[in-house]
Amino acid sequence: MELLKRRILEEGRVLSDQVLSVNTFLNHGVDPSLIAAMGRTFAERFRDLNVTRVLTIESSGIAIAYATAIELGVPLVFARRRKALMNEGEYFSERVPSFTKGIVTDIVISRELLKPDDRILFIDDFIANGDAARGLIRIVERSGATLVGAGIAIEKAFQPGGSYLRELGLPVLSLARIASLADGQVRFAED
Ligand code: 5GP
Repeated sequence: MELLKRRILEEGRVLSDQVLSVNTFLNHGVDPSLIAAMGRTFAERFRDLNVTRVLTIESSGIAIAYATAIELGVPLVFARRRKALMNEGEYFSERVPSFTKGIVTDIVISRELLKPDDRILFIDDFIANGDAARGLIRIVERSGATLVGAGIAIEKAFQPGGSYLRELGLPVLSLARIASLADGQVRFAED
């Protein structure tokens, strides 16, 4: 998606060889027209998969997932990071390492929000090692629902998460694929 790549080049800040900050339009400040365009692009790609629910993880995936869900006309559910004691029986829960925070968190989804006949589209802002995706996929499996596709705004293609999703045989759309952040430079992968 050329619009997103341009914004990354203009406004992205390379924090290290591993981490890109896009705080002006995606992760802190949010540009609604850019996010809406992302939602349209994902909806166009996945429209024929009979998606019944869009799934993401708080907090940065929510805006893009919302934009996609509204285009597809389906509900959105976002996994929460467990903060307080929760009634175990009511939630699916998975332990997930957080790429940016360097800690492990438990992500939870209420059992009433995922049903066996659901067809789930996973949406997220970034994919790095794929830990967040792996945790969500385990929850989808346990719920009996079917994961039908994955839409990622920014895939860091030098990390293994995107390949992990494709190896599952899932349709995956990444709007910008970054080949390298070395030397403070964003280099995109050839599409
Ligand atoms: P993963 O679980 O795939 O290793 O990491 C995915 C999550 O970590 C994303 O949901 C995103 O919030 C965060 N993340 C991973 N890499 C980056 C990055 O380079 N920049 C930002 N801002 N977030 C990232």
